[in-house]
Amino acid sequence: MAEKLKVATCSLCGCFGCHMSFLDIDERILDLIKVVEFDRTPITDIKHISHCDIGIIEGGVANAENVEVLREFRENCDILIALGACAVNGGIPAMRNSFELKECLEEAYIDGVGVHTKMIPTDPEIPMLLNKVHPIHEVVKVDYFLPGCPPSGDAIWTFLTELIEGKPISFPYTQIHYD
Ligand code: SF4
Repeated sequence: MAEKLKVATCSLCGCFGCHMSFLDIDERILDLIKVVEFDRTPITDIKHISHCDIGIIEGGVANAENVEVLREFRENCDILIALGACAVNGGIPAMRNSFELKECLEEAYIDGVGVHTKMIPTDPEIPMLLNKVHPIHEVVKVDYFLPGCPPSGDAIWTFLTELIEGKPISFPYTQIHYD
C-alpha cells in the first residue's frame, strides 16, 4: 500500500469557519483518511508540526505567535495552502488595518459599548499584536490560494483530491464564482 501523505492544518487569525467548512466534506473524510494522515490540526491537538506533504493555513497574521506558527509550517511543509479570505488577503480581521492598533485596543477594552474592564491586558503570556493584519503570503511563500469566506466543503474537496492525485486543479463554476 502506498504511503499516506501527511497533512497539517492550523488557524491563525481566523474564526475556524474554514475548518468547519473542511468538515463539511462529511463522510468523504473517510475516503480522505485512506490516503492522508493528519499531523498537527485542531482535531489532533498536536502542538508542533513534523515534516508534512501539505500544510493548510486558515486565518491571517495578526500577532507574533501567528508569525512563529506560520514560519514553522512553511519550514516543514512541501506545499503550503492559504485557505479562505483571511489567509488569502487578511479578510475580516484586516478591517482593523484602517485604524491605529492603539485605537482598536481602546475601543475593545476601554471605550466600547458595554465594556467594563477599562484596562488593556498586558499579560506577557498574550501574544504581541502586530500593528497590521497580514495575508500569509506577506510573511512566507505560499503555493496555492483557495479563496472564499469560507470556501465550500465541495471546493475544498475538489481542491484536495485533485492536488493529491496530481491533476491540474479546476473547479466547476458552482464551486468558485463571485456573482
Ligand atoms: Fe472565518 Fe471567513 Fe476567515 Fe475563513 S475566511 S477564517 S470563514 S472569516
